[in-house]
Amino acid sequence: MTALVDLPNPATLSDAQQRGASCVWCASLLTPGDAHDLGPRPDPAFVCATWFPRCCLTCWEGRTR
Ligand SMILES: [Zn+2]
Repeated sequence: MTALVDLPNPATLSDAQQRGASCVWCASLLTPGDAHDLGPRPDPAFVCATWFPRCCLTCWEGRTR
């Protein structure tokens, strides 16, 4: 599955969500076995900056169905 899904604007998210420590959608804390890496994304707030969103598997399955 390589389709890009729409993500929240990182400016609206917590530090933990921006670091990939918690789900970008539901903010639950992620563990290595319970996270989907969404890949580096350009940060709209900072030119040339990227952020590394991750989400829980529950949200991922809900978004890709
Ligand atoms: Zn989630």
